[in-house]
Amino acid sequence: MIQIQALNKWFGDHHVLHDVDLEVAQGEVLVVIGPSGSGKSTLCRCLNRLESASSGTIRIDGVPVPEEGRELARLRADVGMVFQSFNLFQHKTVLENVVLAPMKVRGVGRAEAERTARELLERVGIAEQAGKLPARLSGGQQQRAAIARALAMRPKVMLFDEPTSALDPEMVGEVLDVMAGLAADGMTMVVVTHEMGFARRAADRVVFMDGGRIVETGRPDTFFEAPRTDRARDFLAKVL
Ligand code: ATP
Ligand code: MG
Repeated sequence: MIQIQALNKWFGDHHVLHDVDLEVAQGEVLVVIGPSGSGKSTLCRCLNRLESASSGTIRIDGVPVPEEGRELARLRADVGMVFQSFNLFQHKTVLENVVLAPMKVRGVGRAEAERTARELLERVGIAEQAGKLPARLSGGQQQRAAIARALAMRPKVMLFDEPTSALDPEMVGEVLDVMAGLAADGMTMVVVTHEMGFARRAADRVVFMDGGRIVETGRPDTFFEAPRTDRARDFLAKVL
């Protein structure tokens, strides 16, 4: 579903991603961990071209990530993204937030868009919040609304960049539960997170990044029980 080959990214003369090779299979849940500044967000942002790659290739479902234009709009529709900050339209209701993109980008009619939106809000457990403005929701509810909004585009892949790090601790679980549900339903997911419990529970594979490189990758049980590299061991000793 995702193929990354020899991806490099520079910001000026700062080399932020070094020859990253990575494949994510259809239905796979990949959790990316690593210290601050290791390039996790940049990697995610290259996948839907919020950042351009300096060199290398990225294919999503066989199609190279395009530069611009209609192909880029299509890519963004296929690759849903959920950020640390909820990025909802604050002056629109939750329901409007969810119907907007499918109507505008996918050309879905309002009745169908609303039907789908209500189903999705039900799925993420906030059906009763549909008519409210985002500011009236808790952080956990807002993040679940952001997930519903991304899902409304029927993406092939979902990217999550630290979706719970801005939340009060008591709301982290409800968002991770929604994500685990998506994973169980077979969604292809790339998840950057510091929630090691989620990684153990939901990941098919863990990727550990440091200094812009993939240092180690493995199944969660082997990675957490017996990391092979010193850098991964040091990192886990700090976060576990
Ligand atoms: P964190 O865990 O803190 O979110 P990260 O692993 O997501 O870190 P990135 O945000 O990808 O790390 O950043 C990787 C490196 O690239 C950092 O050194 C960062 O300062 C730099 N960087 C990121 N975005 C830009 C930008 N737009 N311009 C210049 N440098 C950037
Ligand atoms: Mg980041």
